[in-house]
Amino acid sequence: RCGFVAIVGRPNVGKSTLLNHILGQKLSITSRKPQTTRHQVLGIKTEGPVQAIYVDTPGMHEEEPRAINRYMNKAATSALKGVDVAVFVVDQMAWTTADEMVLEKLGSLKCPVILAVNKVDRIENREALLPHLDMLSRKRDFAEIIPLSALKGMNLAPLEEAVARFL
Ligand code: GDP
Ligand code: MG
Repeated sequence: RCGFVAIVGRPNVGKSTLLNHILGQKLSITSRKPQTTRHQVLGIKTEGPVQAIYVDTPGMHEEEPRAINRYMNKAATSALKGVDVAVFVVDQMAWTTADEMVLEKLGSLKCPVILAVNKVDRIENREALLPHLDMLSRKRDFAEIIPLSALKGMNLAPLEEAVARFL
């Protein structure tokens, strides 16, 4: 099985850190990154029979308010066409208008969207996490919601397993 995995999320939520962890050193071999017209391939992870092609999607990371208009959202959504699964990375500490904009751009995307709730190593109040996850779960019908820490490499296997299920 083989498929495209889009990593989306506002700046600073930990997308690069997550990819570095998942892809390891491969991420730095820039000259061998194949390019597609729609997506920039960030790296390819092969594990047994499963090959996940991690891609960046143009238009998903802008923070300008104008990006909220419908045309831009449509453009961003269509940029995700051909993707088999999207990983929407958020920071467990904060849900912001920039996250809301990324959510809007995911729009009516047909492929499964996995919510990666990053930076759980920095949780100060454990009791606040469940209500927070509950709030996030109402934002969209996510295929999975996975709390993790990209920095510490915590709970990344469940994310990769969830991704592989949709390829
Ligand atoms: P990107 O803009 O989404 O690609 O985010 P980066 O991967 O560049 O990370 C932004 C900042 O968040 C950096 O300072 C990272 O070290 C930090 N960061 C990323 N993941 C984690 C995490 O799991 N825990 C903590 N505490 N910090 C993280
Ligand atoms: Mg980055």
